[in-house]
Amino acid sequence: MELKKGIGVSTGVVVSHALLLSDDELRIGRRAVPATEVPSESLRLHDALEKSRADIRLLRDQTAHDFGQKTGAIFDFHLGLLNDPQLTNAFGQAIEKQRFSAEYAVSRTLREYARQFLRQKDAYFRDRVKDIYDIERRLLTGLMGRDRFRLIDLTEPVVLVAHDLTPSQTASLDRSMVRGIAIEAGGRTSHTAIIANSMGIPAIVGLENLSHEVTSGDTVILNGHSGVLIINPDDATIREHRTYEQRQLVYETSLNSMRDLPARTLDGTEITLMGNIEFPYEVENALAKGAVGIGLYRTEFLYLASEQEPTEDDHYAAYAEVIRKLAGRPIIIRTLDLGADKYTPLQAKNPEDNPFLGCRSIRLCLANLDMFKVQLRALLRASVLGDVRIMFPMISTPLELRQAKMVLRDVMEELEEQQIPYNPNTPVGIMVEVPSAAIIPNAYAKECDFFSIGTNDLIQYTIAVDRGNQKVASLYTGANPAVLALIRNVIRTGNRHNVSTSLCGEMGGDSEFTMLLLGMGLRTLSITPHNIPEIKKVIRSIHIKDAQRVARRVMSFENSQQILNYLRDETHRIIPEAYTA
Ligand code: PEP
Ligand code: MG
Repeated sequence: MELKKGIGVSTGVVVSHALLLSDDELRIGRRAVPATEVPSESLRLHDALEKSRADIRLLRDQTAHDFGQKTGAIFDFHLGLLNDPQLTNAFGQAIEKQRFSAEYAVSRTLREYARQFLRQKDAYFRDRVKDIYDIERRLLTGLMGRDRFRLIDLTEPVVLVAHDLTPSQTASLDRSMVRGIAIEAGGRTSHTAIIANSMGIPAIVGLENLSHEVTSGDTVILNGHSGVLIINPDDATIREHRTYEQRQLVYETSLNSMRDLPARTLDGTEITLMGNIEFPYEVENALAKGAVGIGLYRTEFLYLASEQEPTEDDHYAAYAEVIRKLAGRPIIIRTLDLGADKYTPLQAKNPEDNPFLGCRSIRLCLANLDMFKVQLRALLRASVLGDVRIMFPMISTPLELRQAKMVLRDVMEELEEQQIPYNPNTPVGIMVEVPSAAIIPNAYAKECDFFSIGTNDLIQYTIAVDRGNQKVASLYTGANPAVLALIRNVIRTGNRHNVSTSLCGEMGGDSEFTMLLLGMGLRTLSITPHNIPEIKKVIRSIHIKDAQRVARRVMSFENSQQILNYLRDETHRIIPEAYTA
């Protein structure tokens, strides 16, 4: 039994088999074959071994010729392993005795081998682990050729283990089969983490070296709350976690029963809880969780879901669907926030250095006006269908906002000329997610109708920590006093200038921040629907004056850890069941 600690990004506990994905999406699932297929599997293995040996010999000779004997000799280790009867017999036995497919026999045996090497004190052996993976990849490629399994072909429930998943890979997962996600890369608010949370799949990120320690078929317990993954747990631990799983289900059911109750504090202060979505199909779930509207629709996923650039009609169809489902409830549609970790297939071919600081989001739109106008036309056409508001992301200068509004006006004029109806009074707002805007929000207050604080980015840009980099993930927290000072500044400025202000980053869905945010004056939150019930529970359990006391106290602390400890204690007093469930 091994225990690994990462960052829990989507709550829930699952006990399931692991499925390891290598970088190129090939899947080596535990697959048993009927007795009649054992000879053909053994033959496939034999052929793959022969081919790999021949390829390695060629590679060794070529390398020796180009770079000298010493370099070429690196491949002698590979050849030596593939000629080692102990290893090849282990492959054969896994097929004959355990009836594993050739792929699974190879993968399981070599991963066990690698684990033994990793346990050695001698660095020479530990360094050979990469060679073992190289051999595994070579043999699997020989066995699977072009017929690689893809993520969508899952046939049994699994916990996916991978180095990383892109947001679009995550979004295309089969929710009925993927019971949990455990990845090595990523931080708390990477888009992969956000999507896993919206899909309600328990997930942990930042589990360094995990793919070297887990094999497909291993039993794992994934706790998306604590961020702990247990590999090959003993029976007592499994039993304990199954009970925990049950308790959690009871807690969630009790939370969901509050769906139709108002998000109102004990002293009668109304709080507006909206949902964040990436796809139109998520609206029903958001409403089922108690959202009174959509406060953030991340439209860039229209681009990420397909190889083709969406047309105006594709945009319009998606917006019309969402608006129809909302039946008059408000929706904030955010214009394209492409770039950084959400790139189109074309952007993937031309990667930027420091993409989070690059031509991302509104910058990309202003540099590609044709693409931007396609979206704005569709948005304006859809504006007559319901309570639609438009939001520009990543505004970092007032000029940028003015330019974006100018393009919007151009599109309005075009529609007028063509006598296509739209709502000329569609509210226009901005994401405040860059320090340059959060420091002087008053410079934007007269130019827009609302602010939405994007803490996911605001945190990364304020503290200079890449939100998706697990190496600096411990620095990434909304409890950083500088981040809190900026958030407070935006709320105060918004309230002073009558610019309605909400917050749509993941921090809003973390119940430990609810009292603080309300105490700082926030009255609207837009969050991942999955988190709405718990946030509502906190809201319904407190008085605003207690929240204000919490905010005052937090502002007197000097470091994040003190703040986090204090907020945890305060939240624990309000919803102790969230900590025992
Ligand atoms: C944010 O930055 O807080 C936000 C809500 O937007 P995204 O996570 O899509 O960058
Ligand atoms: Mg953002």
